[in-house]
Amino acid sequence: MPINLTILGSGSAVPILGRGVTSQHLNINERRILIDCGEGTQLQLRRFKVKFQRIQFIFISHLHGDHFLGLFGLVSSMSLLGRTKNLRIFGPEGLEEIVRHQFKLSQVYLSYELEFEVIDCKEKALVFEDNSIEIYAFPLKHRVKCHGFLFQEKPRPPKMNKDKIKEYSLTLEEILAARKGEDIIRETGTLLNNEVTHGIEKCLSYAYCTDTRFVAKLPKWIEGASLLYHEATFTKAHTDRAKATGHSTAEDAATIAKEANVEQLILGHFSTRYKDTEGLLDEAKAVFKNVKCVEDGDVYLV
Ligand SMILES: [Zn+2]
Ligand SMILES: [Zn+2]
Repeated sequence: MPINLTILGSGSAVPILGRGVTSQHLNINERRILIDCGEGTQLQLRRFKVKFQRIQFIFISHLHGDHFLGLFGLVSSMSLLGRTKNLRIFGPEGLEEIVRHQFKLSQVYLSYELEFEVIDCKEKALVFEDNSIEIYAFPLKHRVKCHGFLFQEKPRPPKMNKDKIKEYSLTLEEILAARKGEDIIRETGTLLNNEVTHGIEKCLSYAYCTDTRFVAKLPKWIEGASLLYHEATFTKAHTDRAKATGHSTAEDAATIAKEANVEQLILGHFSTRYKDTEGLLDEAKAVFKNVKCVEDGDVYLV
């Protein structure tokens, strides 16, 4: 499975027993990424058996405590446990200043380097890529500057159809061309790429959108995502509260999923006013069928 997502905290604002504040661990093509890091995240990593020294990247959506107060503890523990590998942290302006200031005042000298990258975009923008994945950021609408992220596989070379290699006696050169997605041109005619390969597979992707009002442009930015996490802090009975605090209702989240044509929607960041998630789930289901409400420790495989 190229995408393995562990929900570390599914709640909002304050951690409560059974529902930590926002954090998720994403493994996409063996790139290990922590997304947001609310208070208590390092304990949730232990609880759900995620090896935290293997985290290479941390993405912070915004500077509200329930999304980043766990960073100091996690970064310190990584050092106390002897980490030597650099850690790349992507987040809003000011995050580096807060973190470095905290460690400076407490005279903490980390055993490894922190590399910060500021995310600040008005449209969807590529913020990281390597030979296997691409990561995009896009602006959300909250009370402070806040970004969502799209983590996406790069296209993989098509797999050869072994029967066709024999049938057409393909040469090594022809196989290499087909693996690049090219057609095979012979004097006797052209073999189309999809006649000799199993075709190019769809690139899998994960979209993360939390702490936001309804954003009309969002579906365009995350079109066709394999999995979408969207916050649903409130039900529509509390629309006024959602608007005032810069959050979404379950119906808003489902509308985004429907318009973006995503394959699966998961909801989180629930207000503690709701005893269970039934009302939120029913409201979303009326708009978009393939939806679940997340719990701490849930794992989603794509
Ligand atoms: Zn929040
Ligand atoms: Zn917030």
